[in-house]
Amino acid sequence: MKAKLWGVRGSLPAPYTPEYLEKKVRGLLQDYGEYLKDNAEGDVDGFLNQTERHRYQGFGGHTACVEISTDSSQLVIDGGSGLRRLGEKMMLGPAGLGRGEMHILMTHFHWDHIIGLPFFIPLFVPGNDIHFYAVQEDLEERIRAVFRKPNFPVPYEALPSKIHYHQIAARQPKAVGDIVVTPYELDHPDPCWGLRIENKGRVLTYAVDTECNRLSRKEMGEDAKLYENSHVLIFDAQYSFLEAAEKVNWGHASAPVGLDLAIREGIERVYFVHHDPAASDEKIMKSAAQTAEYFNKLKETYVKKNEPLPNVEWSFAPEGITIEI
Ligand SMILES: [Zn+2]
Ligand SMILES: [Zn+2]
Repeated sequence: MKAKLWGVRGSLPAPYTPEYLEKKVRGLLQDYGEYLKDNAEGDVDGFLNQTERHRYQGFGGHTACVEISTDSSQLVIDGGSGLRRLGEKMMLGPAGLGRGEMHILMTHFHWDHIIGLPFFIPLFVPGNDIHFYAVQEDLEERIRAVFRKPNFPVPYEALPSKIHYHQIAARQPKAVGDIVVTPYELDHPDPCWGLRIENKGRVLTYAVDTECNRLSRKEMGEDAKLYENSHVLIFDAQYSFLEAAEKVNWGHASAPVGLDLAIREGIERVYFVHHDPAASDEKIMKSAAQTAEYFNKLKETYVKKNEPLPNVEWSFAPEGITIEI
């Protein structure tokens, strides 16, 4: 099973400003000038290979959309602005010919998770079958509302594809092809559902958006199963640790919280997403550095206790990566 991250921003799409891009380009050109002093032949690949990735690619500006795929099935999580580009890719396949079947599971209906829906081209192709899933019982009304005039010029009734709705039961597994997904409640207003996504014995936990107010297994009760025996965790790290302490009840977490959770549950890999729209690439890297500091201190406590070090890989995820589960 694979998960491709089509959008990793939270709250609002965050395109780079011309000033910010210029600053990035100037910084890179200066460094390239230095590089040329020792590498006169001007090897661009060599320069980029030794440069931090976020400096020339950035973390991206699109909001929540994840494509889960196996050899035979596909499940899209959320319709943030990243969905537009996924739609463009799908148009190259059967969806572009009006012969596609698509499955989109909505965790909740905040703007950053629905804003890509009216720009998802397969919806406008006759012959496509689009299946929406959610725990929320007003799923159909919420999708219709996205297309309601005067917010969008094409009314819902004029969409030529066939749209189907499936309300899924909380904490009950639901199969979409060979992908099995079970929703558990997160700590987020309105509310939002985290997903345990399984295929052939491998488990991905998608826990975005969540503040994780309920930290212990006991506090989480039946929702603790979201993380149990999971291999890979995609987690909400919208804020730095300090910001999360200031923004109580804003519905988002920070990386150290996800790290603690992963260590407790023995999760192998964590990808932090839902980056704040106001966070520059440098600010996200600063959060990563603070998380590394936190992780190192945590490891010291294991050394002192003479216990084996926690075995978890983690990173702040940029848009566009594909995760092998
Ligand atoms: Zn969100
Ligand atoms: Zn939200």
